[in-house]
Amino acid sequence: MDAIIRLSERQEKIIDIVRRNEPITSEAIAGELNLTRATLRPDLAILTMSGILDARPKVGYFYTGKTNLSFISDKIKEIKVEDVKSLPVVADESTSIYDAIVLMFLEDVGSVYVTNKGFLSGVVSRKDFLKSTLGGVDLTKMPIGMIMTRMPNIVHIGIDDSLLNAAIRLIDHEIDSLPVVEEVGEEEKNYKVIGRITKTTITRLFVELGRNE
Ligand code: ADP
Repeated sequence: MDAIIRLSERQEKIIDIVRRNEPITSEAIAGELNLTRATLRPDLAILTMSGILDARPKVGYFYTGKTNLSFISDKIKEIKVEDVKSLPVVADESTSIYDAIVLMFLEDVGSVYVTNKGFLSGVVSRKDFLKSTLGGVDLTKMPIGMIMTRMPNIVHIGIDDSLLNAAIRLIDHEIDSLPVVEEVGEEEKNYKVIGRITKTTITRLFVELGRNE
């Protein structure tokens, strides 16, 4: 991933001068800073290339209003579900609660996506499993289809969607993960599960952005 732009103190000063005096020539900026135009050239190049300043020939420099923060948000919006999704853990509706709990531990996930004839039909999470253990049913006999949250109530996301949209859905619906799906069929909509986005996906990305990796 491209690094998020980090501005030097001098570049911040230049932005400030341009903001207050636009349009302003490079000579005038250099004068304000007691520097030569040649010294400023690389800074002005960076600031115009990154879109913070706009240079118009014979007029001078303008401030575009783009702050460093808007670069961060632009960068975040560019990230697609496809770039960061992980592998889904999937089980058929007929799988017993017991086997699905074992699967959840073995795969080290918090929720299992449930399918019927290969298509997404539900989700079972830690809380669903805990609830089922309180009911005193035979966990080796009861299928996960009986306790899952089912379609059409499953919140999902497409592969071409932005990761920001996925994160918004996680927050809005107060859930830990989203199946990444591909829509198939025309009259009757079905979804193939091809990945997952979890709160960990978002946290990992946050750390990468913070470390500027
Ligand atoms: P946990 O059980 O670990 O708290 P969640 O917060 O993800 O995990 O799940 C809470 C509830 O929401 C559970 O009943 C689960 O079945 C349901 N759930 C989980 N993911 C989704 C989803 N993508 N769409 C709809 N419901 C979901």
